[in-house]
Amino acid sequence: MKSFLPPEAIIFRSKLPDIEIQNDQPLHTYCFEHLPDFADRPCIIDGATGEVHTYADVHLAARRVSAGLHRLGVGQGRVILILLRNSPEFVLAFLGASFRGAVATTANPLYTPDEIHKQAAASGACLIITESTHVHKVRAFAAERGITIVCVDDTPEGCRHFSELLQSNDSDLPDVEINPDDVVALPYSSGTTGLPKGVMLTHRGLITSVAQQVDGDNPNLYYHKEDVILCVLPLFHIYSLNSVLLCALRVGAALLIMRKFEVVAMLELVQRFRVTIAPFVPPIVMEITKSPVVDSYDLSSIRKVVSGAAPMGKELEDKLRAKIPNAKLGQGYGMTEAGPVLAMNLAFAKEPSKTKSGACGTVVRNAEMKIVDPETRASLGRNQPGEICIKGAQIMKGYLNDPEATKNTIDEEGWLHTGDIGYVDDDDEIFIVDRLKELIKYKGFQVAPAELEAMLITHPNIVDAAVVPMKDELAGEVPVAFVVRKTGSEITEDEIKQYISKKVVFYKRINRVFFTDAIPKAPTGKILRKDLRAKLATI
Ligand code: AMP
Repeated sequence: MKSFLPPEAIIFRSKLPDIEIQNDQPLHTYCFEHLPDFADRPCIIDGATGEVHTYADVHLAARRVSAGLHRLGVGQGRVILILLRNSPEFVLAFLGASFRGAVATTANPLYTPDEIHKQAAASGACLIITESTHVHKVRAFAAERGITIVCVDDTPEGCRHFSELLQSNDSDLPDVEINPDDVVALPYSSGTTGLPKGVMLTHRGLITSVAQQVDGDNPNLYYHKEDVILCVLPLFHIYSLNSVLLCALRVGAALLIMRKFEVVAMLELVQRFRVTIAPFVPPIVMEITKSPVVDSYDLSSIRKVVSGAAPMGKELEDKLRAKIPNAKLGQGYGMTEAGPVLAMNLAFAKEPSKTKSGACGTVVRNAEMKIVDPETRASLGRNQPGEICIKGAQIMKGYLNDPEATKNTIDEEGWLHTGDIGYVDDDDEIFIVDRLKELIKYKGFQVAPAELEAMLITHPNIVDAAVVPMKDELAGEVPVAFVVRKTGSEITEDEIKQYISKKVVFYKRINRVFFTDAIPKAPTGKILRKDLRAKLATI
């Protein structure tokens, strides 16, 4: 991407001073740096069983998993696919990959076989860790490609059991020299345009991001070691992997793991384990505020609720404040490619700054932010909406095997262009007001229009299609399709919906289909999504 920036770009920085970040070490070394101080403290509380694993347990088990991966042929730099719900095994698999110098790509276990195969093939995964209920989705593909399947709950034919990975001695640990710029996590994201791509996050990048959130002169800014942090958001998404798991490990807090979200089970666990930090997404906040039973639980232990991944309006913030009055509420702003945290709320700092409703925080420290005019690329001042751009050691190294997409996202000066439209106000608070990019967010989950469009246009009765977001009270947004039928075809809305729903996870299903004569396009062939969104507003 060419940058025509004037030299006098207006840069926004954190109100907190920069800190020295020791980011030239492996991620696991950084996370466990203070292990001697909290070796016997709880690290993982399994919400399903109540079992507690200490930091010493988790550290040892993760090293054993790394040795086990080595034994199963996972070499340094190779990719393992973690296809799991939240569980202690998820944590061990991720940390084991890091100790091994391997790369963990994470995916939603509810993905369809098609979706899993695409990611496994694109990432070059050589081993998949999953649950027995999902094995049928990967078996044929794994056999074809010589991929090892490791199962955490059973040993279906042809699979290894996760416990095998744990049967190693310290002496089995492979000798690994990790370069801080090696990739350790490979989540998939469609970014500003196109199909999902592998986002290369390095040891250095993730350490920087975690440090921006919890290290430095303001320790305890976010979490501290007395905290019990609720881990209900899926660890396969970078928000939970970084801002919940890695931040918790770094500060020595306890992580209360829930396999899936269910409001009553969650309220019970919060009450039973005296949860202090509750990282949420707006749809979970909405369910809590709507739940008739919430008032019968003691939620007074929660000192902080964090919300991110999608916008949360003032009305919802106020409703949550009424339900959990003791808790401070703060939004964060993340994007997978940005490592992922761009902005966080400082209401929890030693010297709290005031925060406004609807703001998604202030830019993290050791980073630079600027707002640019999407047309002219000129740098904009305060209160002027434009594309949010971020720079710093925390952002992705690039997209895996896709230099073109990388170049279109990170410009030659190192600025990552988010595709989000927002502004910075007089108090340094960031407000997101629109999205320039194609991305649709269903309850915080990514839906890439290009992925659905590619499926639609391969249908024999469809000649062209475009997918755009439609506002939805519960999900935030849902994907809807504009479809041009083949002449003479009478394919119906239901038939199209069913055709897609067989191929995708539930949140990518098409909610409505609108038949049209032509998809509006620019001379370059680019779909004019703005026009379609405007058309949708009139329907
Ligand atoms: P993902 O890569 O899945 O984390 O999605 C990143 C995108 O989610 C961002 O680029 C925004 O469009 C949106 N997003 C994340 N956090 C917020 C927030 N607090 N408010 C509004 N949109 C958000």
